[in-house]
Amino acid sequence: MEISEAKKEIIKTGEKLGCKNMSPGTSGNISLRLGENILITASGTCLYELEENEIVLMDRNGNLLEGSRKPSSEKHLHTKIYQMRPDINAIVHCHAPYVSTFAVCHKPLSRPIISENVFYFGEIPVAKYAMPSSNELVENTAKFFVMHDAVLMANHGIIVGGKNLREAYFKSETAEIYAQIYLQSLILGSPVDLEKRHIEEIYELRNAIGK
Ligand code: 13P
Ligand code: ZN
Repeated sequence: MEISEAKKEIIKTGEKLGCKNMSPGTSGNISLRLGENILITASGTCLYELEENEIVLMDRNGNLLEGSRKPSSEKHLHTKIYQMRPDINAIVHCHAPYVSTFAVCHKPLSRPIISENVFYFGEIPVAKYAMPSSNELVENTAKFFVMHDAVLMANHGIIVGGKNLREAYFKSETAEIYAQIYLQSLILGSPVDLEKRHIEEIYELRNAIGK
């Protein structure tokens, strides 16, 4: 993919996050693997109104290759996940309100209440709190990507990987809606978990189509 085409995809993803109220203020960041290198949003940008010059190219260690802005302050978390997971080519980090509510309460999104979420995530765990953009945050969070594609970061937000940007975005949106429904179901009454045999059926389907 050409750099200019990839930047357009990142801009579109930012707009979608904005439309769904998933990227308040200057929170969050988006990246896309391009061969050996990575395109990433610059630090301090509004994801829903990105300009092309607010997306920069860095190498796999986070060194700036092209662009006049500073790469996202979470660049080391992105590069670490790309190093660990060759199947992940795009990452969305955001502070969407419902997933962030669970992150604030240190509650994983683990109840099997919606088949789509069991299919895509199994569980979304919570990584221990560390200061945003710190090495400790990289350490606490990246290790979950051995088993998971989405991780809540305590008192912060969520980070989601996908095989492409479209997938990283739609998984982020799916997680946000899951958190919203989960919270509403707790307010309304007692959410009912899917039965074990139904969960096994979903895992079988997932394995059959190689997710
Ligand atoms: P950046 O603007 O540096 O990408 O930081 C936003 C953020 O969400 C930090 O966790
Ligand atoms: Zn953040």
